[in-house]
Amino acid sequence: MTYPEIRLFIDGAWIAQAGDPVLNPANEDVIGEVPCITPAQLEEAVSAASRGFEIWRRTAPDKRAETILRAAQLLRARAREIGEVITLEQGKPIADAKSEVLRASELIAWDAEEGRRTYGRVIPGGVNFRQQVVRDPIGPVAAFTPWSAPTSSAGRKLGGALAAGCSIVLKASEETPGGACALVKCFEDAGLPRGVINLVFGDPDEISRYLIAAPAIRLITFTGSVPVGIHLAKLAAAEMKPVVMELGGHSPVIICADADPRAAAEASVKAKFRNAGQVCISPTRFLVHQSRFDEFAEAFAGRTKALRVGDGFDHSSQMGPLANQRRLQAMQEFVVDAQRRGAKILTGGERIGNRGYFFEPTVLADVPAESKVMNVEPFGPIALLLRFSDLSDVVREANRLPYGLAAYAFTKSAETVARLTSQVEVGHFAVNHFGGGIPESPFGGVKNSGMGREGGSEGLEAYQVIKFVTHRVEAA
Ligand code: NAD
Repeated sequence: MTYPEIRLFIDGAWIAQAGDPVLNPANEDVIGEVPCITPAQLEEAVSAASRGFEIWRRTAPDKRAETILRAAQLLRARAREIGEVITLEQGKPIADAKSEVLRASELIAWDAEEGRRTYGRVIPGGVNFRQQVVRDPIGPVAAFTPWSAPTSSAGRKLGGALAAGCSIVLKASEETPGGACALVKCFEDAGLPRGVINLVFGDPDEISRYLIAAPAIRLITFTGSVPVGIHLAKLAAAEMKPVVMELGGHSPVIICADADPRAAAEASVKAKFRNAGQVCISPTRFLVHQSRFDEFAEAFAGRTKALRVGDGFDHSSQMGPLANQRRLQAMQEFVVDAQRRGAKILTGGERIGNRGYFFEPTVLADVPAESKVMNVEPFGPIALLLRFSDLSDVVREANRLPYGLAAYAFTKSAETVARLTSQVEVGHFAVNHFGGGIPESPFGGVKNSGMGREGGSEGLEAYQVIKFVTHRVEAA
């Protein structure tokens, strides 16, 4: 397949210009070029978003929903071709890339409908008073999305913002710009008024500084790493602007003595190596009851060894390359450091070949707590297996890190579930499976994993401001 030409999208026009190369992570070939926006164009993108906002906020919610739903349908219809773009630029297996697009379509469609239900309330008052609480769209939004899920991460933000009546300037990842362009094209083809979505690429630091300080921009939403999230939140605080931060995690998986260790291992391997572990809710620390550890470890390592790693376009590949050179280097450093400190490698640990960013699915056991990978989100195909004997210890380990995004548990005991769900500090808790969020559910973290929620009814709240209207009338 051929990679599409990547352009900026400002005020309803696609603009081609020179920029940086885009690479295929499976072979490091240059597949395209991502334009680098100029300061004048960035200013124009914000002006366009301001004009777009004035049109969109005045569009009736049912009409907004119609347009957004049309975009979601187009996305669905184009899932195969957009999936190919994602596999080419990001590396994930083609079936997973297509699923990502379908998921984005579902999230957007749900938000579209929910935008019709952003009700306020009526507060009873004196006989001559009419008192209401109303929700208004907050205004033009600046959104920043990462390379791990080029279409669904951006789709979440576009769906929420547009459903609430906001316009948006989206800075998608420069490393995977094709998935974001294809998404925006669906909205254009669905008839979205110009200026409501603007898509920019360039120097992330310059763009974020400009957008966050721009008076017209009223909300900052970011998905990415904790350090960048904190940096952007500080910039936003200086302007008294709210933020939604979807940041990293280091998810614990608690395998209790009453769980089936083989079934848990099978589910765990599938979840761990999805998108080569480059998923914010990827399971990372497998905390296994000591009575089940050997059985779990053997099954986990055996299934991991059998995974087929290869180009995402090869239908037999179960795991593709890492998305970029930085991730490959990080995996190598994590393994060397953990091994030096005494961790055992049950399988993997090495780069595969010397072209493309392939890394073996890796299982480390008995990893010392001071190892780097035990403290920093690996965001890659490394699983850490650890033993526990007491539920209090496992809760302490689960909560040890400043992350609090997702956690998982495998147990048949309702009491254990009740205790873990109340004591483990996370925004997403799954029991006996690795299901992620659904369109109806709010998604986000606690502690350094972020603030605010995307998805569900709660997801639209960030895009709205609340106004109390009190009206004295002459005659009742
Ligand atoms: P990074 O910290 O350099 O960048 C993370 C993301 O932020 C990228 O998309 C990048 O383009 C963007 N970014 C960087 N500086 C920015 C700035 N000043 N303004 C706006 N955006 C900026 O790291 P990376 O090498 O791309 O990824 C490494 C880590 O990021 C991973 O280990 C993982 O922890 C995290 N990550 C998390 C998610 C997620 O879904 N939460 C997605 C991708 C990466």
